[in-house]
Amino acid sequence: MKAAFLKQPMEPLRIEETEIPEPAPDEVLIKVEASGVCHSDLHLANGDWPRLMKIVKLPLILGHEVVGRVVKRGDRVSGLDLGDRAGVAWVHWTCGECEVCKEGLENLCPAQTITGATVDGGYAEYIKAKTSHATKVPEGLSPEEAAPLFCAGVTVYRAIKNSLIEPGQRVAVFGVGGLGHLAVQIAKAFGAEVTAVDITDEKLDLARRHGADHTINSASTNAVKKVREMGGAHFAIVTASAKAAYDTAFRSLRPRGTLVVVGLPAEDLTFNANAMSSGEVRIIASSVGTREDLREVLDLAARGKVKCEIETRRLDQINEVFDQMRRAQITGRLVLTF
Ligand code: NAD
Ligand code: ZN
Ligand code: ZN
Repeated sequence: MKAAFLKQPMEPLRIEETEIPEPAPDEVLIKVEASGVCHSDLHLANGDWPRLMKIVKLPLILGHEVVGRVVKRGDRVSGLDLGDRAGVAWVHWTCGECEVCKEGLENLCPAQTITGATVDGGYAEYIKAKTSHATKVPEGLSPEEAAPLFCAGVTVYRAIKNSLIEPGQRVAVFGVGGLGHLAVQIAKAFGAEVTAVDITDEKLDLARRHGADHTINSASTNAVKKVREMGGAHFAIVTASAKAAYDTAFRSLRPRGTLVVVGLPAEDLTFNANAMSSGEVRIIASSVGTREDLREVLDLAARGKVKCEIETRRLDQINEVFDQMRRAQITGRLVLTF
């Protein structure tokens, strides 16, 4: 099969022929139809996250928004049949037995394996996945639309659900990329008044088309002043990969506002203690999602409440896709098709 390999951080991915993986007894083999390109893949390719890089497999097939058809089953597989359409998310496998797994926080399982990071991912014609964690895709969703929900969709869904936003509260979404344009829609579905903030007008048009009440170009306007003129944000959800977005988001909060950490810049975040205290600021963070979160966001999409804006590319265009992503030139999500 053809696959795109990361051999070393900072090097372009290389398209090479490799063996089709053989599923273990508890695994299925999936013939990939669609594989979304998440900014986390670019962070990994850049070597941006030293903590994660220590456990990353190299050479590595990236990609953790993967949808395709089950073409082979291990001996101990139940629940997935040949021909079923299923997807594979960032969380590849969790132990089910540790304290956090038992508390329903499987996305934080310390023993987890990670698709496209500690095990090979979906920038390939085939992928193997644990039957326990591969998730069926509802009828009515195309593989291209469904794939980005396996990371971008589930991540912002969990972040917003756990924020406990009340209807009518003001939510500002900083960064209207793959994650952010879905966050705008999901925050609207939770009844929020949504302001979308990004650095290019194309992204803001996209946000408006998907229901944002207000949009701000933070490259040409003082976004802090604008959000504060509207009363300040109850929740500032940062889905940008740039630290600068956090600095703006933090200062846009109203008193007792919550900063929601989703985007993962390479640099550490720093906030002034006095500013935090005088506003009784809350900071929460969110990490991808559980299988339950995934089923819920797939269901929202199947009911037409969330729609991912996609364009497709071929596997051999992956390095151009990464260049476009570095320049913040992607509107919505680019999905590799096979
Ligand atoms: P993307 O490249 O599709 O979107 C990023 C967006 O941020 C772009 O629209 C860009 O224009 C915008 N942006 C850049 N600088 C900005 C600034 N200063 N202010 C406002 N907007 C700005 O990326 P994506 O795939 O949506 O991923 C976004 C981030 O989320 C990445 O850091 C990724 O690693 C992270 N992520 C986190 C989790 C998690 O579990 N916490 C899961 C998936 C992705
Ligand atoms: Zn991702
Ligand atoms: Zn566990």
